[in-house]
Amino acid sequence: MANTAILTNKLELVSIDASGCDHAVMAGASCASTTWTGDDTVKAAVVGLHGDLAGRRFAIGGSPVTFGRDNDNDIVIPDPSVSRLHAEIRQEADGYVVVDRGSSNGTWVNGAAIAAHRLRSGDEIAIAGHRFGFEMTADAHDSSALTTVRPGVMDPVSVLRVTVSGGGPVGLTFALLLADMMGPRVAIRIYNGRWKRDGSRVVWKEHDEGNVRRQQVVTIQSRQFLKLPQAIQDHLFTPGNYTEMWPTGPDSINDVAPRNIRIAYIEDRLLDLANRKRAQIELIPQPFDAEAAHDEIAKQHVLVICEGSRSRTFSYFKSKFGAADFTLYGLDGEQVSDLVLGLRVKSLLPDPMAVLLTVAQNRFLLNSLNGEGFLNMRLTDEEAKEAVGINPIRQTFTGCIQSEPCLLELSPRGEFVCSTHNTLFLPALLRGSAFWSRVEEGLALFGVPSENLTAVTGFELNMVQRPRFSVQLFPRTPTSPGTFGFLLGDAANAIHFWPGRGLNSGLASAISLARCLAKPRKGTTLRDADFVRHEAVMSMLQYRHKSRAWLQMVTADKDGNFRAIKDIIAQGIAEGEEGAFDRDADIEALMARLTQIRDRLATRIAGLPDDATLQAHLETLSGPLIHTLLISDQWDTANVGGEEVDIDWLLEGPQLELAVPAPSNHAVRVARTS
Ligand SMILES: Cc1cc2nc3c(=O)[nH]c(=O)nc-3n(C[C@H](O)[C@H](O)[C@H](O)COP(=O)(O)OP(=O)(O)OC[C@H]3O[C@@H](n4cnc5c(N)ncnc54)[C@H](O)[C@@H]3O)c2cc1C
Repeated sequence: MANTAILTNKLELVSIDASGCDHAVMAGASCASTTWTGDDTVKAAVVGLHGDLAGRRFAIGGSPVTFGRDNDNDIVIPDPSVSRLHAEIRQEADGYVVVDRGSSNGTWVNGAAIAAHRLRSGDEIAIAGHRFGFEMTADAHDSSALTTVRPGVMDPVSVLRVTVSGGGPVGLTFALLLADMMGPRVAIRIYNGRWKRDGSRVVWKEHDEGNVRRQQVVTIQSRQFLKLPQAIQDHLFTPGNYTEMWPTGPDSINDVAPRNIRIAYIEDRLLDLANRKRAQIELIPQPFDAEAAHDEIAKQHVLVICEGSRSRTFSYFKSKFGAADFTLYGLDGEQVSDLVLGLRVKSLLPDPMAVLLTVAQNRFLLNSLNGEGFLNMRLTDEEAKEAVGINPIRQTFTGCIQSEPCLLELSPRGEFVCSTHNTLFLPALLRGSAFWSRVEEGLALFGVPSENLTAVTGFELNMVQRPRFSVQLFPRTPTSPGTFGFLLGDAANAIHFWPGRGLNSGLASAISLARCLAKPRKGTTLRDADFVRHEAVMSMLQYRHKSRAWLQMVTADKDGNFRAIKDIIAQGIAEGEEGAFDRDADIEALMARLTQIRDRLATRIAGLPDDATLQAHLETLSGPLIHTLLISDQWDTANVGGEEVDIDWLLEGPQLELAVPAPSNHAVRVARTS
C-alpha cells in the first residue's frame, strides 16, 4: 500500500464495487492492492482521530488487532515514542479489551493509563499522543445491527469523510445530526478558532481569551427543533433556559410554540454533546485555513462551510459558488441596507406586553428571555452616521459597531467600551444629543430603566441572492474521492432581518444536508445528482426567508411605490422635531392598532394587557416617539404569515428511512445506531 502511516489492508474498512475496485474511501490505496480478507462481519472498529490517521477506520475481527512501531503490527505507528509492539485490542466472550503490551510510554483510555481495559463504544484510546476512537455496534452479537461487508460486494461510501469549518450553532448541529444518522459510516472533523482544549474536552474560550460570547436571544421555530433528535432537544431545552415568548404561527408544528434561547447557551450545549461523540466527531480547536488545508480537503468527501456571514473559507472558494446579486433586494439600483443598534437590556415589562409593542411598529424589536435580551433599534441613515466608535486618539470609526461588530459593555464610568479594541461608543458620550434621547425613548417604550442598559452592538440588515449552495470543489482523481463543498447557516444565507430568522434558516439547512448525505446511495462516489434535493431546499429557504425579510425592510406607499422603512422612520422623526403631529390623535390611532393586534393574538397568548394598561403606558411616552412608531407601521403579518418551507417535502426524516430496505444486490445493511 502506498500510505505507510498505517499499514494493513487486512483491517481497514474499504469500499469495493462489483468489479472489486476500491473507490478511494481508503486514502492512498490502489484498486489492485485492496482486498477484503478480514472477518465477514464488522461489529467493532477503531478510528483514527487526528493527523494522517484521522477518519481512517479499522475493523476488529476474531483475531487481536495490534498497535506498534514494527511493520508487522496491524496498525503501524511510525513514531519513536511508540513501542515496537505497544498495545492490542482483542475480542473476548463478553466484549472487547484493550491491553497494554508492556509499552515504554503507556496506553491511555479516556485520559487514564491502563494495563487492560474493557472497551465501551465512544472510548478514546491514546498511544503516545496518537488518538483512536473505539466503536462497537449497540449489540455486538447481532451481526445485522451495523454494517456488514462481504467480499466482492458494493458498499458505496463506507466511511464518509466530512470536514466542517466553523463550529457555531449550525456547524455543531449539522455534525451531531450526521453522526446520529450515519453512525460509524461517517468521520467528521470540525474546526473552530474560538475553542480551546480543557483536559480531554474541547470548550469555548473565555472572555479574557478574546472570545466575547453572544448573549442574543434567538427564537427557534418548532418546525426546526422538532426535527432534531430527542437527545439534542432534551439537551438544549432545559428548565429555566428557554421561554415561549412568541405565539404559535405558521411555522409551529402540532401547536408547539417557538422557543427563545440564548445563542451562547445553544453553543455550550451543542459543544458538550459533540464532546460525547468523539468516536465520530473530532473537535479541532483551531481556525480552518482553506489554503493551508488544501491537501486535507482534497482527501475529504465533503467540506461544509459553516463559518458565519464573514466566512474566509467561503471567500477562498467564492468563484466556485458564483457571484451574488443584490438587485432583488435593492431600490433604484442600490442595495437596501439597514443598520440596527443592538441594546443589551433587562426589560421590566411582561412578555405579552413586549410582544404587542414589538409587533405594532417597525422601529424597535425586543427579543428576550425573562426580560433579558437585546432591544434592537432600526436606525435611519442619519443615525447610522452617528453610530460610531471613538478610539483612544479620538478618531471616530465604524468598526466595533458597523463593519466588524463587537460588544461594547457598560464600564463603571458609564461608558460603553469594546475591551478588544479599547474603544468607546460615541453616542453614549453625547448624552444630551437627539440620537441618545431617541435611544432612551426606546428604553422607556420597553420598560427598561437606564441602568438596565448594559451593552451595545450593531448589525447590518441586507441581503443578496446566491446562485448556488452546493458545488464540487475538487474533481475525483485516482487518489482523491472528489470533494463537494456546501454553504450552511449564515455562510449561506445571512438573514438577520426583522424579526431575526437567521438560525432557523441555518438549522433547516443543516437538517437538509445531513439527511441528504445520510441517504443510502446507488453510486460509488458522491455526484451532483445526490444533492438535487438539498439544493432545492436551499433555494426554497432563500426564496421564502429573503422575500419575507425584504418586506420587513421596505413598504409600499399609497401610490404603490416601495420605500425603505428606515426612510419612513426618518420622516416620522423629522415631523416630530418640527412639531408636525397631534399627540392625542396619534395615541388614539396607536391604541386602535394595539387593540386590533391584541384581539388577533388573544387566542394564542395569555396575559395580554387591557385597554387601561395600554393607554396608561402610551401616556408616559413622548409625542415624537408615538408619532414615529405610528408612521413606521406595524409588522406586515400578511407576508410574515403563510406557508413555510418544510424539509420533509423533499427529504424524509430518519425515522422514515428506517423502513427503506437495502437494494437487493447489496449485502450492506445499514440501520440507525442511535
Ligand atoms: C450580533 C448578532 C446578533 C444576532 N441576533 C439574532 C437574533 O436576535 N435572532 C436570530 O434569530 N438570529 C440572530 N442572529 C443570527 C444568528 O446568531 C445566526 O443566524 C446563527 O448564529 C448562525 O449560526 P452559524 O453557525 O451559521 O454562524 P455563527 O453563529 O456566526 O458561527 C460561526 C462559527 O464559525 C467560527 N468560525 C468562523 N470562521 C472560522 C474559521 N475560519 N475556522 C474555524 N471556525 C471559524 C466562528 O468562531 C463561529 O463560532 C444574530 C447574529 C449576530 C452576529
